[in-house]
Amino acid sequence: MTAYLVTIGLEIHAHIKTVSKMFDGCPADYAGAPPNSYVSAVSLGLPGTLPVLNQRAVELAACAGMALNCRVNHRSVFSRKLYPYPDLPKGFQITQYDEPICSDGWVEIRTAAGETRRIGIERLHIEEDTGRLLHADDDSSLIDYNRSGTPLMEIVSRPDVTTPEEARLVFEKIRQILVWIGASSGNLDEGAVRCDANVSVRPEGQVEYGAKVEIKNINSFRFVERALTYEIQRQIETLNAGGTVVQETRGWREDLGRTEGQRSKEFAHDYRYFPEPDIPPLELSDAWIAERRAELPELPDARRARFESDYGLSLQDADLLTLDRRVADYFEQAVAAAGGNAKEVANWVLNEGFRLLKERGEPATVLATRMPVAHLSGLIALVLKGAITRGVAKQLFEECFDSGADPALLVTERGLTQISDSDALRVAVREALADPKAAKAIGEYRGGKTTAIQFLVGIVMRATKGQANAQVVRTLLEEELASQ
Ligand code: MN
Repeated sequence: MTAYLVTIGLEIHAHIKTVSKMFDGCPADYAGAPPNSYVSAVSLGLPGTLPVLNQRAVELAACAGMALNCRVNHRSVFSRKLYPYPDLPKGFQITQYDEPICSDGWVEIRTAAGETRRIGIERLHIEEDTGRLLHADDDSSLIDYNRSGTPLMEIVSRPDVTTPEEARLVFEKIRQILVWIGASSGNLDEGAVRCDANVSVRPEGQVEYGAKVEIKNINSFRFVERALTYEIQRQIETLNAGGTVVQETRGWREDLGRTEGQRSKEFAHDYRYFPEPDIPPLELSDAWIAERRAELPELPDARRARFESDYGLSLQDADLLTLDRRVADYFEQAVAAAGGNAKEVANWVLNEGFRLLKERGEPATVLATRMPVAHLSGLIALVLKGAITRGVAKQLFEECFDSGADPALLVTERGLTQISDSDALRVAVREALADPKAAKAIGEYRGGKTTAIQFLVGIVMRATKGQANAQVVRTLLEEELASQ
């Protein structure tokens, strides 16, 4: 069997989170709006209109480039990319070609096997998005120009990716960073972030790359991995059977679990790029670049490392707590409110908080409203001073997560305070030992099976609705059993 080398490169398009479109004041956030209600003379590309560059889009693109460890270029140039297609009313897209705003960066990923890899970013450039074609069942097509002219950044990786898993991780990591710094909404369902993946295989020992197949417009992390897994297998099988891989664009059909040929690159358009005459070259000063750098928050990798060193969290816990910046903020505020007890806060957030978010199907960001920092730190304080048992605290966490109630208030209202008083508990212990259900466990305990006492503790806990101090109950049970 021939061994093959796999080469993958990614191109990620991400909407830039601005109020207005790329080249005029037309509002950019058209979510939920009727088709063609967010259009303007400029975004429709009507003759005689002139584009004016969106300053905020440039700032956010530069920030994104820096967050991806790129150099921000002092000079970049806008170009026209010509292709006739109905979703592009001007007949050309304004983009950046040979002089992009950012170059030469990298992202770091960690595979499931624990290997850390650095994947090069060749460039990040700014461009405008197209409109949308909606193909109806009767073979007619409708056009919605709401998206036309909205700001995009395109991020192109170097062909450093070697497995479908790595491709998914790079896609996830870039999206995480863009959302983290506020440069993009990252909304995959709305296509605000989407990925094209190039993949080729070649027999080991062959120097030149194999024919490159491009899989277009994947808007799901899982699909990227599945599409590439399929495509690599398809190319290897083709070569093993003595066939030739054709350089082409293919689409991923999730419903069929395979890629399908769309158009061959042999007939690819000649885009005839040339500098956009209506927008002068973009000149960025050192001072301007420094301002953007100052705008950047602490990035996810740095924050994860700090969570490990400052709070003594495991890599895994620190990773989960820094997937989303708002969760990381919530965690740190809760640690401060809980007197610095990071381990305790991390356990509540990861075990109870994340469990409930998953069960209720909600995003991690609602944690701060469901269980506000003050509620969580109050609950932890009650547990740590022994006022309530952990069992009661877990029940309260869930109830308050759903209702928004303050757990400390519920403890007072319902008298849920932990019972540690020996006299009060001794009554419950004696009742438990007199319970017919206890007879078997008592026999076993007396017969030398000391773990049987756990069953008796359980009877007392149920009788006290979980409020009894389990340690005190155990001691009392031992005393009673010894004296009987
Ligand atoms: Mn593009």
